[in-house]
Amino acid sequence: MSHPAVFARDVRKQYPGARGVQALAGVSSEIEAGRFVSILGPSGCGKSTFLRCVAGLENITDGELNVNGNPVKGPPDGVGIVFQRDALLEWRSIQKNILLPIEFAKKPVSKYREKVEHLLDLTGLRDFANAYPRELSGGMRQRAAICRALVDDPDLLLMDEPFGALDAFTRDQMNVELQRIWLETKNTVLFVTHGISEAVFLGDVVMVFSPRPGRLVETITIDLPRPRPLSVRESPEFGRYVAHIRGIFEQMGLLNERGTA
Ligand code: ADP
Repeated sequence: MSHPAVFARDVRKQYPGARGVQALAGVSSEIEAGRFVSILGPSGCGKSTFLRCVAGLENITDGELNVNGNPVKGPPDGVGIVFQRDALLEWRSIQKNILLPIEFAKKPVSKYREKVEHLLDLTGLRDFANAYPRELSGGMRQRAAICRALVDDPDLLLMDEPFGALDAFTRDQMNVELQRIWLETKNTVLFVTHGISEAVFLGDVVMVFSPRPGRLVETITIDLPRPRPLSVRESPEFGRYVAHIRGIFEQMGLLNERGTA
């Protein structure tokens, strides 16, 4: 029997402590395998918390949370994570950074050399295999971090505002790159962002969260053909999705004129 990649029923999360924040107030969702899901909401609404719960890095307080049909109890197998800060180890070459999860899992590194080469080709980093992180630009470092998350063929790739620290131009480029990589790998992706345009550009589905405590307000299917060029953002269809989501945030009393929540 095939299970959804991620199944959440009434997931609640209260951080411990006297001033323990309630971060999630009942999130329910079923995420089909192979989908690219954007998780969109204002800062502090619990998006990262939800992702960390799926990654098994935080315990849920209440509800049900399954990955591939199994309740999450600690980091599940087959999950890759990319954070906002790339967390590359400065003293290891790019190739050796990418191989880190393989070493941690005590798998034979030699069996993954080809895979690493393929990922370096896929992300345009082939000439930087033996370079050190300090020799790479921000966008290149984040591409290396994506390679590291993909090296062990994860079914589920979790991305927490991975391009948040990049300039707007590099961020656009990375959106196109990520789509290209995903069209090849076709794993399930949960991509956290607070940018409406980025969420619509990348997502098959956009999950819109309310302000804290986070609830799922609406799940929107983005029916735009792929591969999507950056110019799709100027199309009327794209504009309609953005306007619809902006309307949701306006109704919640949020939003600034940049269109970010
Ligand atoms: P987002 O990713 O949407 O910006 P987060 O999930 O990071 O939101 O945070 C949601 C809320 O939970 C915030 O109020 C934040 O301060 C709080 N929070 C996040 N992590 C912790 C933690 N480890 N301990 C206590 N509170 C936390």
